Formats: sequence, structure tokens, C-alpha cells
Amino acid sequence: MTADLSREGLERLLALEDFSPVAAAADRVRREAVGDTVHLRALLELSNHCRRRCAYCGLRADRRDLPRYRMAPEEILAAAREACAAGYRTLVLQSGEDPWYTAARLGEVVAAVKGETGMAVTLSCGEMGEADYAHLRSCGADRYLLKHETADDDLYRAFHPGSSIQERVGCLRALARLGYEVGSGFMVGLPGQTLSVLAQDLLLLKDIPCQMAGIGPFLPHPATPLAAAAPGSGELTRRCVALARLLLPQSNLPATTALGVRTRGERNDVFSYGANVVMLKITPNAYKQLYDIYPAALPRTDIAAQRRALEEQIRALGRVPL
Ligand code: SAM
Ligand code: SF4
Repeated sequence: MTADLSREGLERLLALEDFSPVAAAADRVRREAVGDTVHLRALLELSNHCRRRCAYCGLRADRRDLPRYRMAPEEILAAAREACAAGYRTLVLQSGEDPWYTAARLGEVVAAVKGETGMAVTLSCGEMGEADYAHLRSCGADRYLLKHETADDDLYRAFHPGSSIQERVGCLRALARLGYEVGSGFMVGLPGQTLSVLAQDLLLLKDIPCQMAGIGPFLPHPATPLAAAAPGSGELTRRCVALARLLLPQSNLPATTALGVRTRGERNDVFSYGANVVMLKITPNAYKQLYDIYPAALPRTDIAAQRRALEEQIRALGRVPL
């Protein structure tokens, strides 16, 4: 099947009554381009402090009822060692935009994790200047995940006070210039988003171009301005993942954590729509519930046992965990 991947074509594909031929094509492209491996990444949420006020996010700065935490460098290193011993080869360090974790402090953590464990390090700590990104790269950071969230100018401004999609994309281009493997992505089901905006989101992934793309449903958080909005659709999210696979055959496409919030089945289904990565939270139990981006019932962290269980689930899907 030859799909029309223009903006109009993508919009038409997203709206299809029967999407199964497109999903099958994405699955085929995934197998030919990146094989049957599913990469397991350890996700450590190192701080829930954030200076920004993204309208959808439970960590936004003006949320006063949320106790804030910040893991100390030694705690991060201890979790990294445990993840490495459990078999992980990549550690994703994620946080709000926490001014305490300057590029200098974060750089020391990255260098220590790399030096001690040899794991690849992905950072997902928000927007910084190019000099800071360069410093982190020089400390050994391999990849950077910074979702563009929505490619539509007006929607972007509505949800990100004092910020613009141009600044966001500017960061992504700076990361690419510095030799990072760049990850972007977006939310599906934001209020006011249309299929045409989603088509624009997909084309932006290709334009950057990114090597990874996290595409997940928007989940309303009761303590945010978007509390009353409807959640994004799992099926539409999977369709976006499938089209991202057709646009970027070689890319790493996670089955996002947000997709697994409602049911584990929803997360697993996306593996037949082109996904080839999954992230597992290794955040210590003392902090896990406080990384409250959206409402989710989270299991207690047991790094080794949870990795083994996920490997089993992936094998049961006929895929190869790595
Ligand atoms: N602060 C960094 C940033 O914004 O890039 C990284 C941490 S942020 C919590 C990670 C991702 O969470 C964002 O890119 C956004 O897509 C997602 N997120 C935040 N609130 C969400 C919500 N209510 N529903 C779904 N995803 C959400
Ligand atoms: Fe902060 Fe990221 Fe949440 Fe925005 S999405 S409020 S930058 S943690």
C-alpha cells in the first residue's frame, strides 16, 4: 500500500473508518526498518519542581498543593546502578524545569552515571540555552527528549504562557546541531486540536527530523486549567504512532506511559502499530506518586522484578526485549 503522507493525506488517513491496512503497513515497515526488538528504557523522574505553567500538567509552577521533591545526585546514582544491574542499557532522566538542577549540576550527574554504568543517557529536562545543552552533551548525554507538544501556533500559546512553538522547535534544532539523538512528540486529544493539527504534528517530526517521537494521549489533571477537558483517544494515539512509523521508518517510537494508564492492553496494542520502545518508571517509591503529571495508579517500584515482568509481556507479543 502506498500512502499519501501529505498534510491532507495524513488527515484523511487519521479519519479512516477502517485503519487496519495502515496499521498493518506500519507494522511491516517497523519490522523491515528496526526489526522485532523492543527497547526497554529505565525512566527516573529526578525532580518535580518546575518553573513553567503548562496548562495540562500537574507539575505546573502555580500548583500549590503538591509537595515538591528533588532527588540528590547520590540517590540518582544509586537508582542508575540498580537499573544497570537489572539489565537496562539506557537511563532516561526526566524532570520539571528545576532551576536547582543547573546544567553544571546535571552534567556532573550525567558524567557519573556514564562513568559508573556505561548506560546511554537520555535527558528530558525541558528547555535550556544552547550552551547548556552543549555542556550536557560534553558530559556524555546521548539523547534529549523534548516533545513539541502541539505544532499549532495558537494552541501552543494557549497552553504555554509566555512561550511559543518557535522557541520549542529552536531548542530541538539546537539539540540536533549538537549531535544529540533528538526526540520530539506530541499529545493527542488536547482541547481544540483537530485532525489537521495532528497531521501538522506528524510532519513536524519529519521536518526536525527526530530519531525518537513520544506520542501519547492527553490526560486531564484535576488541579490544572484543563481539568474539565475530555481525555485523548487511545485509538487516535495509535493511529498517529502508525503514521509516524510510515513517515520515519528508522525512528524509535515508544508505547508511551500515558497510553498504558487506562489499561495495559492499550499500551500493548500500540506495538502492532509501529512502536518499538517502552519506558519503565524506576523512580523510588518515596517520590513516584509526587511526579503527578496526570492522574495514574502506579505500582510500587521494584526495578528488577518489573523489568522481568515487562520482558515476559513483550515476549508474549512475539517481540524481543532488549
Ligand atoms: N519538563 C519537561 C518537558 O516539559 O519537556 C519534561 C517533563 S514533562 C512532565 C514530560 C511530558 O509530560 C511532556 O512532554 C508532556 O507531553 C507530558 N504531559 C504533561 N502533562 C500531561 C497530561 N496532562 N497528559 C498527558 N501528557 C502530559
Ligand atoms: Fe513543567 Fe514539563 Fe510539566 Fe510543562 S510539562 S509544567 S515544563 S514538567
